[in-house]
Amino acid sequence: MRLSRVYLDSPLALSAVISLPKEIAHYLSNVLRLRADDELLVFNSEQGEFLARVTSVAKRAVDIELFEKIRGAHDAAKQNALSIHLILGLSRGDRMDFAVQKSTELGVTEITPIYTEYGEVRLKADRIEKKLQHWQKIAISACEQSGRLDVPAIHKPLSVPELSLCEHAHKWMLEPSGSDALPQSIAEKNCVLLVGPEGGFSADEIDWARSNDFQIVALGSRILRTETAPVAALAILQHKYGDM
Ligand code: SAM
Repeated sequence: MRLSRVYLDSPLALSAVISLPKEIAHYLSNVLRLRADDELLVFNSEQGEFLARVTSVAKRAVDIELFEKIRGAHDAAKQNALSIHLILGLSRGDRMDFAVQKSTELGVTEITPIYTEYGEVRLKADRIEKKLQHWQKIAISACEQSGRLDVPAIHKPLSVPELSLCEHAHKWMLEPSGSDALPQSIAEKNCVLLVGPEGGFSADEIDWARSNDFQIVALGSRILRTETAPVAALAILQHKYGDM
């Protein structure tokens, strides 16, 4: 049977005994029904991945002991040959959730939602922190499922002119009318991918991207939904330049 895999945002070390946070303890004991002596995997990007054994299960508490190191932190870097910052027009609830989940599975390094001219969603200031936590949870669960060690960073939403992207070697804006082509190969393995919301990018935003050194790239003759476009593009980028 496949072992449960759990992300722990706390220092991990061989022989450490850890009392799991309440939410994880509840999930493991009441949903997955783990019991004393059952094994599981725990991981984070700082210390890597460990085989652990449940040492005790009480009403709302589960303790585990880490007994074998499976992967080290350097394996996180090996897993991500390509560093990809996805900048995505903010869209309605479940579309954004889908995009966060699938792009995490496809190895995105950072995600920044953006407000655009034709985007319909605006988050009130007091909702932003909650939304970020919600997306972070989706990303964590995608890492747990996909065997990924590092959880992508999810930044607070910005408007297009607020984006500061000088550190990226390659910048691609996805736009159905685009005429630039992706290069055959890339030497510097870091890039940024800009994807529009349901309503697409405005002419001003496309001009902004051009003047900020973005290539304007079309993915084919069909218009993809805002949550499909990053999935298709990330699969292409991983295949051409990354780990597939
Ligand atoms: N009405 C919009 C238009 O015609 O541009 C459609 C926007 S589409 C639903 C949402 C976003 O997905 C676009 O802004 C673009 O970033 C990306 N996208 C969808 N289909 C694409 C394609 N064939 N080529 C490149 N990007 C695409």
